[in-house]
Amino acid sequence: MDAVDIFIIGGGVNGTGIARDAAGRGLSVVLAEQGDLAQATSSASTKLFHGGLRYLEYFEFHLVREALRERETLLVAMPHISWPMRFVLPYSPEMRFEGATPTSKLLSTVMPWMKGRRPAWLIRLGLFLYDNLGGRKILPGTRKVDLAADAAGAPLQDRFAFAYEYSDCWVEDARLVSLNARDAGIRGATILTRTKVIEARREGDLWRVETEAGTWHARALVNAGGPWVERVVKDTAHVATKEGIRLVRGSHIVVPKLYDHDRAYFFQGEDGRIIFAIPYETDFTLIGTTDQDHKGDPAHPVCTPEEQDYLCAFASGYFKVPVTRDQVVWTYSGVRPLYDDGASAAQSATREYVLSLDSDGPPILSVFGGKITTYRRLAENALAKLAPFFPKAGGEWTARAPLPGGDFPHDQVAALRERLRAEHPFLTPAWAARLIRAYGTDAWPLLDGARDAAALGQDFGATLTEAEVRWLMRHEHARSAEDVVWRRSKLGLRLTEEEVAALDRFMKGTE
Ligand SMILES: Cc1cc2nc3c(=O)[nH]c(=O)nc-3n(C[C@H](O)[C@H](O)[C@H](O)COP(=O)(O)OP(=O)(O)OC[C@H]3O[C@@H](n4cnc5c(N)ncnc54)[C@H](O)[C@@H]3O)c2cc1C
Repeated sequence: MDAVDIFIIGGGVNGTGIARDAAGRGLSVVLAEQGDLAQATSSASTKLFHGGLRYLEYFEFHLVREALRERETLLVAMPHISWPMRFVLPYSPEMRFEGATPTSKLLSTVMPWMKGRRPAWLIRLGLFLYDNLGGRKILPGTRKVDLAADAAGAPLQDRFAFAYEYSDCWVEDARLVSLNARDAGIRGATILTRTKVIEARREGDLWRVETEAGTWHARALVNAGGPWVERVVKDTAHVATKEGIRLVRGSHIVVPKLYDHDRAYFFQGEDGRIIFAIPYETDFTLIGTTDQDHKGDPAHPVCTPEEQDYLCAFASGYFKVPVTRDQVVWTYSGVRPLYDDGASAAQSATREYVLSLDSDGPPILSVFGGKITTYRRLAENALAKLAPFFPKAGGEWTARAPLPGGDFPHDQVAALRERLRAEHPFLTPAWAARLIRAYGTDAWPLLDGARDAAALGQDFGATLTEAEVRWLMRHEHARSAEDVVWRRSKLGLRLTEEEVAALDRFMKGTE
């Protein structure tokens, strides 16, 4: 078999983002993912396209600016799976800084009487920078909120008199990965899931890549192994390097919805950390995250009972009605693969990504760290690093190209939903809303002109039909019920165990 240009290890947001970008430049690409797409970190994030307000306190201006600029580019390219969100930050004078951030050190020198507290003027300054660093055009700016008069104050304890409200964006992280893989495939890439890369060796001008599904030869290797990046470079590809990662676990809990409006909360703790409480899947609230050094296998991180208690107690410090562990309906946990810069505390390790190129023979590019928010820019930078090896490759193109189903204006979601219902009157409002949010304009070919629900085949519950499952198997690499109910959708929150088992039997039978 002929050699391909780029072989990519890892089907998270970074691997699939690089695959899509490279395929669109005319390069031949193979991507291998050992499990399902987005099975690791990229489905376990807080799901925000955000600049990272708190990174300003670490003076990470470059990272924050790049991410802020990127929010609106991404929002326009995927108006179905991402949307603007307002964040309410209640103020209390007792709020403290995280450990020893550069800002807290500076402040304790010039204003020692603050004793580690985070003053209101500093939050206003941070939000001013946040509003203005990133060339905002679509998202509204910061405003001050009187919590006695605004609906955002209703679920909060009376001790909070005012809050600041600022903008970021929500994104369906696992669908982002799936749609990048789908688009890469449309542009000619080969996407292999459930295919582990066992070994890669340099052979003359090429990499010889052994996978569970056979051997490939490639001109360049991209290691987007996320939490496994260090293992892949050292043990799988046998490349000596001093670079490493630090694994930091972050966990979330999901509870029945705690309040009725559509804004999220940004809570600051007296320990200096912050958490979010975010409206989730219509009927739920998502609370997270924790931030702990992770020892052991990155494959199956879990939200420990202690982490659940921590998140409940943190949120209960803000909400009038305490949040308790028996309310938790689901938890998830991921491991941040942060570039090891030797920083001391877990939460102060840099969030910048590092692209490391070893060209002592055919090149291998390893991706360390990164955020969902910067995946597209990361892919562009990765291809810039590989450009000398592929002089005929095309230039940057992804900033202006919608993801599959995202070819409509970002402010037309409601109109699209109404059109879908008008043309398929059997859809309930919630069903149509879910299809538009998941598939955008691809909802039409998915429904394929169906005139009634029966035309969509077997009903698996919670509006999931055979037509949708077949679409996901054919176009989005779904192979098991778990792929469908926890990554291509979050219908796992609504389906019973029996319904999920029936779905799995159906999918195994149609393979
Ligand atoms: C708790 C938490 C919250 C976060 N919140 C946000 C947020 O709100 N916004 C934001 O922008 N970012 C956020 N992030 C960061 C973001 O989620 C990650 O930076 C990003 O998902 C990393 O993607 P990745 O593709 O590098 O890694 P992964 O998604 O982990 O993908 C790596 C893939 O490589 C595969 N792999 C490894 N070895 C092999 C092999 N030998 N063969 C084949 N496949 C292999 C793995 O199976 C895995 O699927 C958060 C992270 C965490 C943990």
